[in-house]
Amino acid sequence: MTRAIYPGSFDPVTFGHLDIIKRSASIMDELIVGVLNNSKKQPLFSVDERVRMLCEVTKAYANVKVTSFSGLLIDFADEVGAGVIVRGLRAITDFEYELQMSQTNHIMNPGIDTIFFTTSLEYAYLSSSTVKEVAMYGGDISRFVPETVIKAIREKFN
Ligand code: ADP
Repeated sequence: MTRAIYPGSFDPVTFGHLDIIKRSASIMDELIVGVLNNSKKQPLFSVDERVRMLCEVTKAYANVKVTSFSGLLIDFADEVGAGVIVRGLRAITDFEYELQMSQTNHIMNPGIDTIFFTTSLEYAYLSSSTVKEVAMYGGDISRFVPETVIKAIREKFN
């Protein structure tokens, strides 16, 4: 059985993330979406809020689970018995950091591999930070995030 983990901040989840979730879940037996509880970042949504939104938007996928984690990703992957880490690549700017992370993780635990999904073209520009910026100034974010997230963002900024 192939269990994979898709880690990230998901602050908030976008259609770009959902695309990676859908595509990776279709080739894995089980996909765990891991929401990173990162004390260094100042997120808009709490970890619990991010987990709740992700649960809501992934409920149609039977083999997708959502959970939060803190500490080292490679330790968490090992704890949950995931042999694969899934990451998304949007542009060359993502590449350098992702390459370094995947190589570091592989040295720390050679039993766990990272695989990359290249973004679907229609989401190549999309990031959680852009969504937050557009929303902050009252812009339309309906092409970027699901309805649940639109509501949650509106509540935050009101
Ligand atoms: P992180 O803070 O770990 O980068 P993010 O929530 O921003 O967390 O992203 C999680 C993962 O999803 C990363 O691998 C990122 O490259 C990928 N990702 C984010 N947005 C998109 C997108 N529009 N298309 C494809 N992959 C994406």
